[in-house]
Amino acid sequence: MAQAAKLAYRDYDFAVDPSRRDWNYDKMNGHKTIYLTFDDGPSANTEKALDILDQYGCKATFFVTGQNPEYFPWIKEAYKRGHTIGLHSMSHDYETVYKSPEDFWAEFDAIGQVVKEQIGYVPCFIRFPGGSSNTISNDYSEGIMSYLVNDVQERGYQFYDWTLSCGDGAVLTTEETIMYGCEETDEVNPTYLLHDGAAKETTIEALPSIIEYYQARGYTFEALDRNSLVSHHTIEA
Ligand SMILES: [Zn+2]
Repeated sequence: MAQAAKLAYRDYDFAVDPSRRDWNYDKMNGHKTIYLTFDDGPSANTEKALDILDQYGCKATFFVTGQNPEYFPWIKEAYKRGHTIGLHSMSHDYETVYKSPEDFWAEFDAIGQVVKEQIGYVPCFIRFPGGSSNTISNDYSEGIMSYLVNDVQERGYQFYDWTLSCGDGAVLTTEETIMYGCEETDEVNPTYLLHDGAAKETTIEALPSIIEYYQARGYTFEALDRNSLVSHHTIEA
Protein backbone atom coordinates (compact mmCIF):
# COMPACT_ATOMS: atom_id res chain seq x y z
CA MET A 1 0.00 0.00 0.00
CA ALA A 2 1.28 3.47 -0.81
CA GLN A 3 2.19 5.73 2.05
CA ALA A 4 -0.59 8.22 1.34
CA ALA A 5 -3.20 5.46 1.25
CA LYS A 6 -2.00 4.11 4.57
CA LEU A 7 -2.25 7.52 6.20
CA ALA A 8 -5.70 8.09 4.74
CA TYR A 9 -6.71 4.88 6.48
CA ARG A 10 -6.15 6.62 9.83
CA ASP A 11 -7.78 9.87 8.67
CA TYR A 12 -8.21 12.61 11.26
CA ASP A 13 -7.19 10.72 14.32
CA PHE A 14 -3.81 9.42 13.16
CA ALA A 15 -1.39 10.92 15.54
CA VAL A 16 2.17 9.80 15.26
CA ASP A 17 4.62 11.00 12.66
CA PRO A 18 5.24 7.86 10.59
CA SER A 19 8.62 9.09 9.37
CA ARG A 20 9.97 9.34 12.88
CA ARG A 21 12.16 6.44 13.94
CA ASP A 22 14.23 7.90 16.80
CA TRP A 23 11.94 6.58 19.52
CA ASN A 24 14.45 4.84 21.74
CA TYR A 25 15.71 7.87 23.57
CA ASP A 26 15.64 8.65 27.25
CA LYS A 27 15.24 11.77 29.35
CA MET A 28 12.40 12.81 27.08
CA ASN A 29 10.90 15.20 29.54
CA GLY A 30 13.20 16.69 32.14
CA HIS A 31 11.49 15.16 35.15
CA LYS A 32 11.06 11.65 36.49
CA THR A 33 7.88 10.22 35.02
CA ILE A 34 6.53 6.68 35.11
CA TYR A 35 4.08 5.56 32.47
CA LEU A 36 1.97 2.87 34.13
CA THR A 37 0.34 0.66 31.52
CA PHE A 38 -2.46 -1.82 32.27
CA ASP A 39 -2.94 -4.55 29.68
CA ASP A 40 -5.85 -6.92 28.98
CA GLY A 41 -8.73 -4.94 30.51
CA PRO A 42 -11.32 -3.74 30.91
CA SER A 43 -12.21 -6.21 33.63
CA ALA A 44 -13.90 -6.61 36.98
CA ASN A 45 -10.84 -4.87 38.44
CA THR A 46 -10.76 -1.75 36.26
CA GLU A 47 -12.93 0.24 38.66
CA LYS A 48 -10.64 -0.58 41.58
CA ALA A 49 -7.55 0.39 39.58
CA LEU A 50 -9.16 3.71 38.62
CA ASP A 51 -10.09 4.50 42.20
CA ILE A 52 -6.55 3.83 43.43
CA LEU A 53 -5.08 5.95 40.64
CA ASP A 54 -7.45 8.79 41.59
CA GLN A 55 -6.56 8.43 45.24
CA TYR A 56 -2.86 8.95 44.45
CA GLY A 57 -3.37 11.54 41.71
CA CYS A 58 -1.87 9.25 39.07
CA LYS A 59 -2.60 8.99 35.37
CA ALA A 60 -2.00 5.77 33.44
CA THR A 61 -2.63 4.05 30.12
CA PHE A 62 -5.01 1.14 29.49
CA PHE A 63 -4.24 -1.14 26.54
CA VAL A 64 -7.62 -2.77 26.14
CA THR A 65 -9.00 -5.90 24.53
CA GLY A 66 -12.50 -7.09 23.62
CA GLN A 67 -12.46 -10.10 25.93
CA ASN A 68 -14.97 -8.74 28.46
CA PRO A 69 -17.71 -6.78 26.68
CA GLU A 70 -19.70 -6.28 29.88
CA TYR A 71 -16.91 -3.99 31.10
CA PHE A 72 -16.58 -1.88 27.92
CA PRO A 73 -18.18 1.17 29.65
CA TRP A 74 -15.10 1.29 31.89
CA ILE A 75 -13.05 2.27 28.82
CA LYS A 76 -15.10 5.46 28.66
CA GLU A 77 -14.83 5.97 32.40
CA ALA A 78 -11.03 5.57 32.34
CA TYR A 79 -10.83 8.07 29.50
CA LYS A 80 -13.09 10.53 31.34
CA ARG A 81 -10.82 10.34 34.37
CA GLY A 82 -7.87 11.46 32.25
CA HIS A 83 -6.20 8.18 31.35
CA THR A 84 -5.02 7.18 27.90
CA ILE A 85 -6.69 4.33 26.04
CA GLY A 86 -4.60 2.13 23.76
CA LEU A 87 -5.34 -0.95 21.68
CA HIS A 88 -4.23 -4.49 22.55
CA SER A 89 -6.24 -6.62 20.05
CA MET A 90 -9.82 -7.86 20.14
CA SER A 91 -9.33 -11.47 21.23
CA HIS A 92 -5.79 -11.52 22.62
CA ASP A 93 -5.61 -14.97 21.06
CA TYR A 94 -2.07 -15.20 19.71
CA GLU A 95 -2.98 -17.75 17.08
CA THR A 96 -5.60 -15.42 15.61
CA VAL A 97 -3.77 -12.13 16.08
CA TYR A 98 -0.52 -13.31 14.48
CA LYS A 99 -1.93 -15.60 11.80
CA SER A 100 -1.23 -12.98 9.10
CA PRO A 101 -1.00 -9.19 8.77
CA GLU A 102 -4.63 -9.22 7.56
CA ASP A 103 -5.74 -11.08 10.67
CA PHE A 104 -3.71 -8.71 12.81
CA TRP A 105 -5.50 -5.68 11.32
CA ALA A 106 -8.90 -7.35 11.62
CA GLU A 107 -8.18 -7.76 15.33
CA PHE A 108 -6.94 -4.20 15.81
CA ASP A 109 -9.64 -2.60 13.66
CA ALA A 110 -12.25 -4.46 15.75
CA ILE A 111 -10.92 -3.25 19.09
CA GLY A 112 -10.42 0.19 17.54
CA GLN A 113 -14.16 0.33 16.82
CA VAL A 114 -15.00 -0.82 20.34
CA VAL A 115 -12.89 2.01 21.73
CA LYS A 116 -14.33 4.51 19.26
CA GLU A 117 -17.81 3.70 20.57
CA GLN A 118 -16.62 4.55 24.08
CA ILE A 119 -14.38 7.59 23.54
CA GLY A 120 -15.27 8.86 20.07
CA TYR A 121 -12.15 8.03 18.10
CA VAL A 122 -9.65 5.27 17.39
CA PRO A 123 -6.50 5.92 19.43
CA CYS A 124 -3.05 5.67 17.88
CA PHE A 125 -1.47 3.77 20.79
CA ILE A 126 -0.85 0.05 20.37
CA ARG A 127 0.63 -2.66 22.50
CA PHE A 128 1.34 -5.94 20.76
CA PRO A 129 0.01 -8.98 22.65
CA GLY A 130 3.19 -10.56 23.98
CA GLY A 131 5.21 -7.45 23.13
CA SER A 132 7.18 -6.65 20.00
CA SER A 133 10.12 -8.94 20.73
CA ASN A 134 8.42 -11.55 18.52
CA THR A 135 9.37 -14.36 20.88
CA ILE A 136 5.64 -15.19 20.99
CA SER A 137 4.36 -14.00 17.60
CA ASN A 138 7.11 -15.85 15.77
CA ASP A 139 5.61 -19.14 16.97
CA TYR A 140 2.49 -18.37 14.92
CA SER A 141 3.87 -16.57 11.85
CA GLU A 142 7.57 -16.59 11.30
CA GLY A 143 8.97 -13.09 11.02
CA ILE A 144 5.59 -11.35 11.16
CA MET A 145 6.72 -8.81 13.75
CA SER A 146 9.44 -7.37 11.51
CA TYR A 147 6.67 -6.50 9.08
CA LEU A 148 4.15 -5.29 11.66
CA VAL A 149 6.43 -2.91 13.55
CA ASN A 150 6.89 -0.89 10.36
CA ASP A 151 3.33 -1.34 9.18
CA VAL A 152 1.73 0.01 12.37
CA GLN A 153 3.91 3.12 12.21
CA GLU A 154 3.27 3.68 8.52
CA ARG A 155 -0.45 3.59 9.32
CA GLY A 156 0.01 6.34 11.90
CA TYR A 157 -0.06 4.16 15.00
CA GLN A 158 2.73 3.79 17.51
CA PHE A 159 3.51 0.71 19.58
CA TYR A 160 4.75 0.71 23.13
CA ASP A 161 6.65 -2.01 24.93
CA TRP A 162 7.81 -1.67 28.53
CA THR A 163 11.00 -1.26 30.52
CA LEU A 164 9.76 -2.20 33.99
CA SER A 165 7.23 -4.75 35.19
CA CYS A 166 5.79 -6.10 38.41
CA GLY A 167 5.93 -9.61 36.94
CA ASP A 168 2.17 -10.07 37.12
CA GLY A 169 2.02 -11.88 33.79
CA ALA A 170 2.68 -14.85 36.09
CA VAL A 171 0.51 -15.79 39.03
CA LEU A 172 1.94 -13.92 42.01
CA THR A 173 0.91 -13.17 45.55
CA THR A 174 0.43 -9.57 46.56
CA GLU A 175 3.74 -9.67 48.44
CA GLU A 176 5.58 -11.05 45.39
CA THR A 177 4.01 -8.41 43.16
CA ILE A 178 5.22 -5.68 45.50
CA MET A 179 8.67 -7.27 45.77
CA TYR A 180 9.14 -7.59 41.99
CA GLY A 181 7.27 -4.39 41.29
CA CYS A 182 9.38 -2.07 43.42
CA GLU A 183 12.71 -1.99 41.68
CA GLU A 184 15.45 0.62 41.83
CA THR A 185 15.90 2.13 38.40
CA ASP A 186 18.08 4.77 36.77
CA GLU A 187 15.48 5.36 34.09
CA VAL A 188 14.01 8.81 33.93
CA ASN A 189 10.87 7.80 32.01
CA PRO A 190 10.19 4.10 32.53
CA THR A 191 7.18 2.42 30.92
CA TYR A 192 5.73 0.04 33.47
CA LEU A 193 3.75 -3.12 32.66
CA LEU A 194 0.83 -4.34 34.77
CA HIS A 195 -2.30 -6.33 33.98
CA ASP A 196 -5.96 -5.43 34.39
CA GLY A 197 -7.67 -8.80 34.53
CA ALA A 198 -10.32 -10.40 36.71
CA ALA A 199 -7.67 -12.82 38.01
CA LYS A 200 -5.22 -10.04 38.86
CA GLU A 201 -6.55 -9.11 42.29
CA THR A 202 -3.03 -9.22 43.64
CA THR A 203 -1.96 -6.51 41.19
CA ILE A 204 -4.70 -4.26 42.55
CA GLU A 205 -3.69 -5.05 46.12
CA ALA A 206 -0.04 -4.29 45.30
CA LEU A 207 -0.76 -1.12 43.34
CA PRO A 208 -0.74 1.36 46.27
CA SER A 209 2.65 0.08 47.46
CA ILE A 210 4.11 0.28 43.95
CA ILE A 211 2.86 3.84 43.49
CA GLU A 212 4.13 4.89 46.92
CA TYR A 213 7.55 3.34 46.21
CA TYR A 214 8.11 5.43 43.08
CA GLN A 215 6.46 8.56 44.41
CA ALA A 216 8.90 8.44 47.33
CA ARG A 217 11.72 8.44 44.73
CA GLY A 218 10.45 11.56 43.02
CA TYR A 219 8.46 10.06 40.16
CA THR A 220 5.14 11.31 38.91
CA PHE A 221 2.71 9.08 37.03
CA GLU A 222 1.46 10.23 33.66
CA ALA A 223 -0.59 8.80 30.82
CA LEU A 224 1.17 8.15 27.53
CA ASP A 225 0.62 10.81 24.93
CA ARG A 226 1.96 11.54 21.48
CA ASN A 227 5.11 13.13 22.87
CA SER A 228 5.93 10.51 25.50
CA LEU A 229 9.02 8.39 25.40
CA VAL A 230 8.37 5.38 23.20
CA SER A 231 9.91 2.16 24.46
CA HIS A 232 10.57 -0.51 21.84
CA HIS A 233 11.96 -3.96 22.51
CA THR A 234 14.46 -5.53 20.16
CA ILE A 235 12.90 -7.98 17.74
CA GLU A 236 14.50 -11.26 18.72
CA ALA A 237 13.13 -13.60 16.11
ZN1 LIG B 1 -1.81 -8.83 27.04
